Order: sequence, then structure tokens, then C-alpha cells
Amino acid sequence: MRARIVLGALLGAGLVAGAAHATARPVTAQDKALLARPATYEEKVAEAVADRLTHHDVSVRCGPLGEPAGVLGVTPYLNGHALDYFLMLPAECTYLTWFHEAPARWDPRTCQPNDCKLASDIAIALAVVSHESYHILGWTNEAQVECYGMQSIWFVARSLGASLDEAQAIASFYATKIYPLRRTETPTYWSAQCRNGGAYDLRPHSNGWPS
Ligand SMILES: [Zn+2]
Repeated sequence: MRARIVLGALLGAGLVAGAAHATARPVTAQDKALLARPATYEEKVAEAVADRLTHHDVSVRCGPLGEPAGVLGVTPYLNGHALDYFLMLPAECTYLTWFHEAPARWDPRTCQPNDCKLASDIAIALAVVSHESYHILGWTNEAQVECYGMQSIWFVARSLGASLDEAQAIASFYATKIYPLRRTETPTYWSAQCRNGGAYDLRPHSNGWPS
């Protein structure tokens, strides 16, 4: 089972190469069309989490990103500023909803073998919401954004109904199984300062990491 978990993490990290990437591009016509329609149930799930994390009124739409394959989410920028809006691939939104419906099923410590690959993907989806939320808050350095996002995975998981224990376990899973792969796979999203007591530690007086 452990091998499956690790494999799931590797596969997930492969998919995540370049993920949660924010481009400095204005809102496109495609974005505007997505924003013009009401949010779906899945989009509302994502919006509720992003609202709680950012204290902004965030719009989320699930659809094509207009980005290369492998990018899972994007926060459009306009004149150098993030709009209160981000996009995720439809699969990411579905993973969030699945997690919301049955958080304990996707606990990386206890998932059933057939679920563990998805548990890894779901952990990544939680990280994407968290990552894009920090773009909404104005950060643009990808290594910093990714690190801050990782430190709020627990909050995203809690917002979607997970126990504190599971939420912290998912964040720890991401930090130990997925984040290290970024060092070689997507180095602009990795920093040696992303560690307990490092420059990007949001809670320097706490020994907990990354939650
Ligand atoms: Zn980003």
C-alpha cells in the first residue's frame, strides 16, 4: 500500500509540473464568458474555501485555462494585479467536491488502495486552491506562493469538512511526498526557505510544519 501511495504522489507530482501557475495576462474573452455564467455547485465549493482563506469575494470557474497541459490552475492578472478570480481545470473542482462529500475517505494515512492515487490528486487539488488564493492576496513569487499555499492546505481541508487531524496529515503528506519533487521538476515553485523556521514560514513561532 505504501508503494501505491508513493506512486500516486509521483504521478500526481508529474501532472502538477508547472501547476498552480499564474500568468501575467489580462482576462481573456474565454475568462469573461466563464465569469458571465452563474457558478456551478462545484465552483461554489471552491469559492467558499477561497473566500474564507482570503477574506475576499472570490470567483472561481472550472474550465479551460488557456495554459499549457499540466497547469492545474491560473490566476489572471490585470495591470499587475490579481483579480478576485481564479480558474481551475474541471478535474480539480471535481476532486474538491469529492473531498467535501467524504473527507475521511481521502486520508492519505488510511485510504483504501484503490483510493490512494486519487487521495494524492485530491491533496494536490487542495493545494491548488490554497496556492491560487495567495495569488489573490497579491503575492506573485511562485516559490513564495507555493510555500504559503502549502501552509494553508490544512485550512482548505478543514473548510471542506476534514478533521483537524486529517487536515494536518494531508498537509504533511504534501510537504513530504509532493513538495520535494518540485525542487527538480518545477524549481521556480520550490525554495530552501520553505521549511520550519525558514524565511517563508508563516508561523515562525510554531514548531508545527507545514500546518
Ligand atoms: Zn502560481
